[in-house]
Amino acid sequence: MRFNTKTIHAGLAPDPSTGAIMTPIFQTSTYVQNAPGDHKGYEYGRTQNPTRDALQKNLAALENGKYALCYSTGLGAIDAVIKTLNPGDEVLSTNDLYGGTYRLFVKVFEKYGIKFSFINMSNASEVEQHITSKTKLLWVETPTNPMMNIIDIAAISEIGKKHHVLVCVDNTFASPYLQNPLDLGADLVMHSLTKYISGHSDVVMGALITSNEKLHEELKFIQNATGATPGPQDCFLVLRGIKTLHVRMQRHCENGAAVAHFLTAHPAIDKVYWCGLTSHPNHEIAKKQMRDFGGMISFTFKNDTMETALAFLKKIELFALAESLGGVESLVGHPASMTHASIPREERLKNGLTDALIRLSVGIEDIEDLLEDLQQALKN
Ligand SMILES: *Cc1c(COP(=O)(O)O)cnc(C)c1O
Repeated sequence: MRFNTKTIHAGLAPDPSTGAIMTPIFQTSTYVQNAPGDHKGYEYGRTQNPTRDALQKNLAALENGKYALCYSTGLGAIDAVIKTLNPGDEVLSTNDLYGGTYRLFVKVFEKYGIKFSFINMSNASEVEQHITSKTKLLWVETPTNPMMNIIDIAAISEIGKKHHVLVCVDNTFASPYLQNPLDLGADLVMHSLTKYISGHSDVVMGALITSNEKLHEELKFIQNATGATPGPQDCFLVLRGIKTLHVRMQRHCENGAAVAHFLTAHPAIDKVYWCGLTSHPNHEIAKKQMRDFGGMISFTFKNDTMETALAFLKKIELFALAESLGGVESLVGHPASMTHASIPREERLKNGLTDALIRLSVGIEDIEDLLEDLQQALKN
């Protein structure tokens, strides 16, 4: 099955008891057994749920993996990955990381004796220099947030294999439509399903996908033991969203390209960060590992002040000011005061995250309306 067909059919079958074409929402906490231990594969809602199972099979197929596990949130999924580690283990991660992941690593897991280092993974050889005998996990996010840096997944995976270090890729920004890290050699893929995969800004969920049976069993044990499982209604919503992932992503990419080129040509704009631009420093790697370039764009103003950003945000209308991304509607964010406010200003500036940097999640509205809105908000 090819990708577009998989979004609609993989892992799914009409309900055997009724013929319902849509996977039913199995809103049940427990399952009746014929005799102790004699059941239909389902015992208790934390451990198994048929709606969740269908979604997991579908997600595994989309990422070309054998197994998937769904979590109550994306961070719940990341939490499970770190719980496979032991005190004294070290994690190497990208320095331009989703803020919530950074917070989980540093504010929660450091006190359990796990060490995290944040480096520039765009330079793969630098990654190898930082690996020690204690390094157990390479945590990759690409494209990164909000600077849209690209990390070479195949190169990092090769380094991981050479040193027997697990490689996990947070594939939230690209979605499986654009990029499949397992095919590039990664061991594990993480998704915040909250974003492009569900795509309608109506659910918070996460997932892990792998083809490594031992790793899957360990993660499944941790999930059942710690309990970060999603509800069946949310699983249904994500399944419903996935059926249009390919058509939505195609439009996100088209609109993203149009917005990136519009901004590049606008006299008030300084830098545009979008990996589809040939001027992007990692454009060649993006072209190699992604099928298209997505709808996430950041940009800065020539007049790079907080006031410029705030004036723009006040005028923009169709792009809604909100955290999150990947929904059908266009969103705008100001990382310096929103998602990345907890990072000290000096640190932010070092990575190019200036006071006036704006991040767009370009939606799937008519492109003319989006460009007209940007045009009027950029006047003066
Ligand atoms: C949103 C997001 C997360 C966290 O996912 P939640 O579903 O909000 O818990 C992790 N990584 C990236 C890149 C994200 O955008």
